[in-house]
Amino acid sequence: MKLKTTLVAGVTVWLAAGAAWAVPAKPNILFIVADDMGYADCGAHGCKDVPTPNLDALAKAGVRFTQGYVTGTVCSPSRAALMTGRYHYRDGVFDWIHPGAAGLQADVPTVASYLKQAGYRTAAVGKWHLGEDNQCHPLRRGFDEFYGFLGGGRSYFPDKPGKGKVNHYTQLIRGQEPVVEKEYTTHAFGREAADFLARQKGQAGPFFLYLAFNAVHTPMEAPDDYLSRFTAIEDKKRRTYAGMLSAMDDNIGRALKALKEAGLEEQTLVCFISDNGGPIVRNAPNASRNTPLRGGKGETWEGGIRVPFFMKWPGHLQAGTTFEQPVIQMDLTATVLELAGVQRDAKWPLDGVGLLPYLSGEKKAPHETLCWEYGQQWAIRQGDWKLTFALPTKEAKTPILGLYDLSQDIGESRDLAAAQPEKVKQLQTAWAKWRKDVIGDQPAPNITIKNVNRSP
Ligand code: CA
Repeated sequence: MKLKTTLVAGVTVWLAAGAAWAVPAKPNILFIVADDMGYADCGAHGCKDVPTPNLDALAKAGVRFTQGYVTGTVCSPSRAALMTGRYHYRDGVFDWIHPGAAGLQADVPTVASYLKQAGYRTAAVGKWHLGEDNQCHPLRRGFDEFYGFLGGGRSYFPDKPGKGKVNHYTQLIRGQEPVVEKEYTTHAFGREAADFLARQKGQAGPFFLYLAFNAVHTPMEAPDDYLSRFTAIEDKKRRTYAGMLSAMDDNIGRALKALKEAGLEEQTLVCFISDNGGPIVRNAPNASRNTPLRGGKGETWEGGIRVPFFMKWPGHLQAGTTFEQPVIQMDLTATVLELAGVQRDAKWPLDGVGLLPYLSGEKKAPHETLCWEYGQQWAIRQGDWKLTFALPTKEAKTPILGLYDLSQDIGESRDLAAAQPEKVKQLQTAWAKWRKDVIGDQPAPNITIKNVNRSP
């Protein structure tokens, strides 16, 4: 197939005859995921008190998605949908996966299993949180290598044998073997990622690395030399968060430096997201900030589901651009499967869409409709409209069914439901149809939402 380069809407892509998308060779793929990082907590989104030079450079080197969403408002659902390119409800993940609980459905293909079939060398580093059973283990889900832990969180500091809660959920492992890690785990994950990337130099064929930090999730633990960077921050929790975030940013820089030193920067598509919004007052609050968004982790307000979302591919995606239509993390999966030329199994249709034709301007909005459900909470976005159903809080004693025009009101502060009852009805009907199609008739699981004081 003859390829030509074209420059459309500031994005260089390869456009194949017949408007099919192709690239000269399968690019390497690097997914970087942060945990519970606030929407506002990087320089690219206006953060002032915590420098994030490496994340900012990543955003500046490619495309910053201003309306980048995740399907899950907590860890496991979001990570599951990134792995599969499918709404996580389809594959048995409705909430964060508790210790010992069932994980991601065993036979659904993952981005790693697909890429492995397509000839990629694959590795996962960091937090897994998609199940602890053998059938859920990263090595059974398409990864050649794994270094990290299977659960949802653990101490960042070395385990003390005989003390603390070292268990199957928290134990650091290489492959399936327990290891004794002496470094702060964020540094260890940066080290392992850099090591994997350095090993790719000169190798034939592409690679996929999934670098999934548990930073900046609780527990609030930062090394002293990172805490000392932020003595000007008075609030202790924010100061610790700043140290944790700074350590993650440094280790993202370390991985990207290794990629560059391996001579692979221009052959590698790098994607970054946070797995969900920053937890503001519940769901393991960590002093993150989602300004100007309302709410946070565990909620279907924008603060729970809209996240930092960047993509870079030097020489292919033009640096310094923004994409302002709604996208969602499942699209990253679909994008890389298309780039890799993967033959997908029709039994497992994707909900994500490949983004390159949208980035080029050939196509317009990737999604007419996006929907969410978390316990009794839900939301739908269509165009600029969002209908959000939120549970009672100390401030709002009754549930809220609020209608918002996000083009004018990114903070979901002006409820237009009373003024636009027909729009409410239309969106509610559309959400119900989506729910029936994707989730079916089963009732929403009972997820306990604490009744807490929460400011938008
Ligand atoms: Ca998370």
